[in-house]
Amino acid sequence: MISQSQIDALRDAPVSNAQHVINGQTVAASDGAMMEITSPINGQRLTDIAAGGSVDVDRAVAAARAAFEDGRWSRIAATARGRILQRIADKIEAEAQSLAVLGVRDNGTEISMAIKAEPMSAAATFRFYGELCGKDYGEIAPTAPGTLGLVHHEPVGVVGVIVPWNFPLMIGAWKIAAALAAGNTVVLKPSEVASLSLLRLVEICHEAGLPDGVLNVVTGTGIDVGAALGKHMDVDVMTFTGSGGVGRQLMMYAAQSNLKRVYLELGGKSPNVIFADAGDLDKAAAVAVGGIFRDSGQVCIAASRLLVERSIHAEFTEKVIALASKMQIGDPLDLKTSAGAIASETQMNSVLAAIDLAKAEGAELRMGGTRQLSQTGGYYIGPTLFDNAPQSSALVQKEIFGPVLAVQPFDTEDEAVTLANGTDYGLSSAVFTRDISRAHRMVERLKAGVVHVNTYGGADGSVPLGGVGQSGNGHDKSHHALDKFRNLKTAWIQL
Ligand code: NAD
Repeated sequence: MISQSQIDALRDAPVSNAQHVINGQTVAASDGAMMEITSPINGQRLTDIAAGGSVDVDRAVAAARAAFEDGRWSRIAATARGRILQRIADKIEAEAQSLAVLGVRDNGTEISMAIKAEPMSAAATFRFYGELCGKDYGEIAPTAPGTLGLVHHEPVGVVGVIVPWNFPLMIGAWKIAAALAAGNTVVLKPSEVASLSLLRLVEICHEAGLPDGVLNVVTGTGIDVGAALGKHMDVDVMTFTGSGGVGRQLMMYAAQSNLKRVYLELGGKSPNVIFADAGDLDKAAAVAVGGIFRDSGQVCIAASRLLVERSIHAEFTEKVIALASKMQIGDPLDLKTSAGAIASETQMNSVLAAIDLAKAEGAELRMGGTRQLSQTGGYYIGPTLFDNAPQSSALVQKEIFGPVLAVQPFDTEDEAVTLANGTDYGLSSAVFTRDISRAHRMVERLKAGVVHVNTYGGADGSVPLGGVGQSGNGHDKSHHALDKFRNLKTAWIQL
């Protein structure tokens, strides 16, 4: 899908300063402000992006509102929208290599993962929603004779999209493609840590024929741009992926402004439960390692808790340590690298502080725990494993969003369920067992938006992803995600 020579040809390509895109035009911040973007690969300046503010958000929302109200997108045939979304998918695929390398330079995800998880996944998402356009029927309600109840789906209007720095293309596409498919217009605010590939995606959308004003982007910080979008009186729906703290803020902004709907896809502390009857323990260990240490743990569904039945706990933990110690950490633009950089210096320091706290809380540090490759100037932390982690510790209870695994032994299925469900989160989970009844019981009993059985991650766009508890209140992906971006309207007719 991408070769080392293709990567090497792109790795030092100049990156132009980036501006907002409003009403199809590239525009500077209203006060001309810019902010510097550094690459986590080496801590060096990569480029500057526009540092927006509330005036820029007002302009972008006004453009999105005008484009919505005049029907240039909301009132064309759904199949015509679908054709454009599919053209966008084609163009993303055609540019997959350069999009992936640009994104990796911005956020440090290893390229072997990024090429599939970023452009190829984003293309698949645009294709999925493009294909759904025109296949979205309304309803005739089963009303009494002499009356007719019609249920129409209508776009909501202007959708505000705020995304995090991990997998910006994949997560951005989940939201943008679904919102556009339902006929809305969009104002996007990428993470200031990883804006660049999304900015190119917005250009691609216009090159594919998306009308001006339908997709606008304002770059900058959360407090300046994100808050202005969240508080805006003319944004109808906010869809957000990121931390719980900012999710709470967005709900408050909605309460303080126009009561816009707010959908949150938040963090997790996802349990991976290994029973002694898991069968191939080597395979289960390899999946456990990939589930937490790929992308240096900066994955919302990272399997950051490993619950192992006591009879295999020591053997299984050794297998995980042996496999994790073979991982190649470092230059994310090397195809052989299995875990790249931490996305920013701030995030690296936050992970290191969480590791120090875990040591103080009494868990046994069995591997890692320190910064690596500091001579490169980049932000790297090796796979870190704590054994016998206390259930009440921050190590078990709080999302770290880094390459840190908490291992806990358990004795019974009931205990595994209690430990697994014993956090405020409920995003993802997994169970490894050969007992089909146990597998189904665990699917029923684990409190999570997704329960993997004998695997981890990799679910395609046909199934929803969303959390329960403090992992969120909405779903991305699948036809269910369209519900976030449309209203139901009843026509009640006396015959
Ligand atoms: P973050 O919450 O710090 O930032 C996310 C976005 O919110 C960024 O664009 C940021 O600029 C913006 N923001 C920050 N402060 C804001 C404010 N006051 N008002 C409005 N917007 C503001 O999250 P992050 O560090 O970028 O990403 C990591 C988090 O995202 C983790 O918690 C991770 O689990 C979560 N995540 C969840 C999913 C999922 O699908 N559930 C997927 C990926 C990441």
